[in-house]
Amino acid sequence: MTMSDQLARHARSRGAEVALVLGDVRRTYRECDERVSRLADALRVRGVKSGDRVVLFTLNALEAIETYFAVARLGAVCVPANFRLAADELAYMLDDSGASAVVVHGPLVETMRTAREAIGHTGPCLVYGGVLDDAEGGGATQDPQDAEDYEQALLAASADPGETEVQEDTPAIIMYTSGTTGRPKGAVLTHRNLVMHAFSDAVNQGLAPGDRVLLVATPLFHIGALSSLLTNLLVGGRTVVLPSGRFDPVAVVDVLEAERVSACFLVPTQWQAVCGLPGIGRRDLSALRNIGWGAAPATTTFLRTLIDTFPHADVTTTYGQTECSGMLTLLRGADALRKIGSVGTPVPNVEVRVVDERMNDVPCGEIGEFVYRGPMVSAGYWNKPEATAEVFAGGWFHSGDLVRQDDEGYFYIVDRKKDMIISGGENIYCAEVEDVLAAHPKVREAALIAVPDEKWGETPLAVVAAATEDDPPTPADLLAWCADRLARYKHPRHIAVVPLLPRNPSGKVLKTLLRSDREAGRL
Ligand code: ATP
Repeated sequence: MTMSDQLARHARSRGAEVALVLGDVRRTYRECDERVSRLADALRVRGVKSGDRVVLFTLNALEAIETYFAVARLGAVCVPANFRLAADELAYMLDDSGASAVVVHGPLVETMRTAREAIGHTGPCLVYGGVLDDAEGGGATQDPQDAEDYEQALLAASADPGETEVQEDTPAIIMYTSGTTGRPKGAVLTHRNLVMHAFSDAVNQGLAPGDRVLLVATPLFHIGALSSLLTNLLVGGRTVVLPSGRFDPVAVVDVLEAERVSACFLVPTQWQAVCGLPGIGRRDLSALRNIGWGAAPATTTFLRTLIDTFPHADVTTTYGQTECSGMLTLLRGADALRKIGSVGTPVPNVEVRVVDERMNDVPCGEIGEFVYRGPMVSAGYWNKPEATAEVFAGGWFHSGDLVRQDDEGYFYIVDRKKDMIISGGENIYCAEVEDVLAAHPKVREAALIAVPDEKWGETPLAVVAAATEDDPPTPADLLAWCADRLARYKHPRHIAVVPLLPRNPSGKVLKTLLRSDREAGRL
């Protein structure tokens, strides 16, 4: 089965049901399938064939979803790009992926044009306007010489272009990991990877056909949004898409209420913003049964707030990576409170281990690297055989995450391997210290980074954002707080109070930025 097969089946069996909603636009399964067929034909006519890469540069839009499916239908490979990329970064991605065509959202046309010029990129370029043109300040769709209008191309194309044979092992997507730990690498995900993930997700959540209304409010270039969309289309659900750009918690709650949304995944900082909205408890969110969160660590204090704010909903923790097509472990139901702080147990079709540097299994309760294998796991990085060999050492995918497992088999993430601090030969796992600091009443959020130290090798620097600007915590407050809660070697040796921690779109703290700020003497 391939990524787009189920869409075609639903078009026949439940064609009149609404599949996608964005603002006032509602498209049925039949309409979606027809537009995907037309787009596939339009791309084919312009020379896109099996194996070719098509870069998709877009804010959230229904056309983005059509592009994913149309490219997949041709056996070609969709390469979604973060809409915040600067022209140089986009040029790197165009070049690295060897893109033969591009599909672009109107407000981003200029960045794409600059990127293409920089590397002399030619080839078809389809541009759609999208509802965000004005909101994002981009004006109406521009018309550079080398670009063609998406809708015109669809109108001129055939709605019945015939089938292209696509194998399950054909790459469907190259998704660049956001590079919080280095230069972005393109994880290749095949049709099998994505379909197996969608099945696993549907089974885990016990979804029946047509069961739910999903809100996709995070960017579609991210695996979290894409994988939940694929699951929902697999089971024939309705997906409401929120135009992304700036995250707006008010817009999220308005749509949750108006569309009677039953499932929504957001990253922790986004749920935090939703929970903090005045009057949130008075909104009618009774349809919201599944609250998903993941992609970045969350404190237990915040999780209790989330559970208290939505007592009728199933708060579901997911832990995963781009390279496994989405999620690896899941925590839900009564476990959300019973095992608070854990990321749960592995999903059924993934094998996992916790290993030391020599690939020996570490005993329960001890810390090691989380490694895994299974049908959802990427075949490797595009054009990067060494990075692929390294990450698959010993035949298992190395997550780069340090975890421990309790005696009931629940996993706890303690740090990313590259962020762990070694001070005087002792390991300091950031999550533990960050959680303690964030629980201080004067602290909103905290991040720990290593500072080189002649005597200890490394010492921890805590970068702390105050809960309120007018009453920031002092270093003495924080050290007194740590005294009863953490062993002395884990106490921050340096403390910097900042207004806000820098985060990437998936809510992860950008520790590389904090490290360079420290080196430049700004922290
Ligand atoms: P790069 O790998 O280049 O740094 P990235 O961090 O953006 O890029 P993603 O695939 O988006 O890559 O993120 C995967 C990582 O996110 C995981 O390895 C883990 O460290 C973190 N993560 C995901 N879910 C959770 C969670 N529930 N709790 C804590 N951390 C999580």
